Amino acid sequence: MKIAVASGKGGTGKTTVAVNLALSLGNVQLLDCDVEEPDCQHFLDLNLEDVEVVKSFLPVIDAEKCNLCGRCAELCHWNAIVVTPQKATVFPELCHGCGLCARACPQGAISEKGKVIGKIQRGKSGEVEFYQGVLTVGEPLSPPVIRAVKKKAKEDRITIIDAPPGNACPAVATVEETDFCILVTEPTPFGLHDLKFSIRMVNELGVPHAVIVNRAGIGDNRVEDYCEREGIPILMSIPNDRKIAHLYSQGIPFVKKMPEWKDKFVMLYDKIIRIMEEVA
Ligand code: SF4
Ligand code: SF4
Repeated sequence: MKIAVASGKGGTGKTTVAVNLALSLGNVQLLDCDVEEPDCQHFLDLNLEDVEVVKSFLPVIDAEKCNLCGRCAELCHWNAIVVTPQKATVFPELCHGCGLCARACPQGAISEKGKVIGKIQRGKSGEVEFYQGVLTVGEPLSPPVIRAVKKKAKEDRITIIDAPPGNACPAVATVEETDFCILVTEPTPFGLHDLKFSIRMVNELGVPHAVIVNRAGIGDNRVEDYCEREGIPILMSIPNDRKIAHLYSQGIPFVKKMPEWKDKFVMLYDKIIRIMEEVA
């Protein structure tokens, strides 16, 4: 059972929900796929160790075999190969590692050189098994690192996945092929605006979903009204509570100091199971 926790923009409380849900359920995996800025680690007691290097495809052209036909440069969507009458040159910083050039080269002149784009780290916090991806600084391509983190999910465990913010390729790579997606939003016009884009994304991916309203009380009822109109369940509202904010600022998940919330998160998981049974 893989549950992604996503949001249309950063700072809505997505990581708070992922960490508190994982700690409340106990014997689960928590995967941090926000690989450009993994921050679940700051809320967990962890000793992290590097367990894997993530590489992407980078073409190497054998000048002996290359006949300068230009096919690879024609096909590359990212203009990462330039072929002149003298030579074919790869620009690694533009390459997205799709491998199309190697498959298309009629001379078999292109081979693979692995390019390190990130790493995976592992730790344990109580009963929670934790993995995070870390994208190498300056690397533009996070989806291969995200997919490598997701491979750590074990089929027989509940896995909570903290997604990158937004609705672009990194969020899609995280949410696709999960069993359920929790969309975290704030009750403000901006929150509703971003939520609508997130809902479009999960609908296109065919992932069942529901909403958590964070910082309830700071805005208006437009998110609730929208969800009711669209038939999207609201799993939980987390109030704009000074104690929760204070614990967050100290890196303490609020279920640790406010144990009544543990039961609420366990009930939230039960609600997810019921929603999944209804849509099955
Ligand atoms: S497709 Fe192959 S043979 Fe043609 S220019 Fe590219 S590397 Fe050279
Ligand atoms: S691997 Fe893809 S992106 Fe990179 S040079 Fe080849 S075709 Fe272009």
